[in-house]
Amino acid sequence: MVDFSLTETERDIRDWVRTFVQRELVPLEQEVLRRERNHERGLTREELKDLRQKARDAGFWGVQTPEEYGGMNLSAVLTALIEIELGRTFVPFSFGGYADNILYHANEDQKQRYLVPTIEGDRKSCFAITEPGAGSDAKNLRTTARKEGSEWVIDGEKTFITGGIDADFTMVFAVTDKEKGADGGVTCFLADRDAGWRSEPIEIMGEWDRQPASLVFDGVRVPEENVLGEVGGGFKLAMQWIGRGRYLLPARALGGCERMMEMSMDYARNRQTFGAPIADRQAIQWMIADSAVEIEALRWLVLQAAWQADQGADSRHAQSIAKLYGGTRANEIVDRMLQIHGGMGYTRELPIERWYRDIRLLRIFEGTDEIQRRTIARNLLKGHASVSGVLG
Ligand SMILES: Cc1cc2nc3c(=O)[nH]c(=O)nc-3n(C[C@H](O)[C@H](O)[C@H](O)COP(=O)(O)OP(=O)(O)OC[C@H]3O[C@@H](n4cnc5c(N)ncnc54)[C@H](O)[C@@H]3O)c2cc1C
Repeated sequence: MVDFSLTETERDIRDWVRTFVQRELVPLEQEVLRRERNHERGLTREELKDLRQKARDAGFWGVQTPEEYGGMNLSAVLTALIEIELGRTFVPFSFGGYADNILYHANEDQKQRYLVPTIEGDRKSCFAITEPGAGSDAKNLRTTARKEGSEWVIDGEKTFITGGIDADFTMVFAVTDKEKGADGGVTCFLADRDAGWRSEPIEIMGEWDRQPASLVFDGVRVPEENVLGEVGGGFKLAMQWIGRGRYLLPARALGGCERMMEMSMDYARNRQTFGAPIADRQAIQWMIADSAVEIEALRWLVLQAAWQADQGADSRHAQSIAKLYGGTRANEIVDRMLQIHGGMGYTRELPIERWYRDIRLLRIFEGTDEIQRRTIARNLLKGHASVSGVLG
């Protein structure tokens, strides 16, 4: 039986987040826009901390974090539903109690030094694989680590590392065996900022509270106990990090699209030209209709990918489809919504141009559109996936 309804628990949790967004985040929107226009952070660290604490006091903390670490350990479907709700505002917020999935590969000692303080919000991590010469072609890493006594010495440069300015440690990927390369010759290291890596901010198009940076490793020494997982097992970890929930990126964009549609329909009903509301014009109605169809399709692609992940199935194909469709459609939708608002859409008084800049990133990071297409086509051509989808 195919059942598209939510369980009572799913509905309750979704509604709780919806109310939280409406009560706590939406009222901050004008101030966030004002600050960002002045090149300040949308939310101060204190404000973010307070908001997270407020949610925690209500029992909402660690959405996908295992219960043994105090988290809620919610399903992928619920996490997607939460992400859609959070996407309905551009206020840069996420719930606390989160740590990168690969940190769970840490040994007991590393867990106490890295995993637990990250979950608690006392430490900040960043994930560093991309290099100037290795983006889509991630296997082409040039950063090296060589063993000297009981230490590893890391040399190289990483780029576009989200949160690289703020992070006090990084999970950095380096070649430890040139012969093997990505097939068993890449290792992940936990490198504290104190170890001596430097970060340089990168100015980007979107508004981001976790500004990306380039990281420079110039003979940075880390003790051998800071290898995360196995020596040579780094590339697998990197792929696991990237695959941790690709459906969550289009989920957030979907929430933004829903909100912009509501704003645009309101605007279209009220904006008069040539003696009638623009909502009466077929040109505007078609933009609304096409966007509604795409929003609906995206919702089910996202939830279906999440559902597959919950079933323990290999959901990578479904996730690539959701990310590709989300990236291309959300960009088309935000463009239409900006168009419906005319000149106002292009101003910084409204958040649409902000969404326009933010959503553009979805087509680039964590696998570009072209790389998703490559993956999808390969899966089909090699028979790893069926055009009939999950139903076979
Ligand atoms: C804001 C931001 C945050 C990021 N955060 C992180 C982070 O936290 N950690 C991290 O490690 N990385 C991060 N990245 C890096 C991101 O994952 C890469 O930018 C992305 O994978 C693309 O790599 P690239 O920029 O080198 O582009 P390239 O790989 O050089 O690609 C350039 C163009 O060529 C296309 N292309 C490449 N190969 C093929 C092919 N085989 N067939 C067809 N077309 C192809 C691409 O799709 C793209 O259009 C971030 C990037 C941005 C912009």
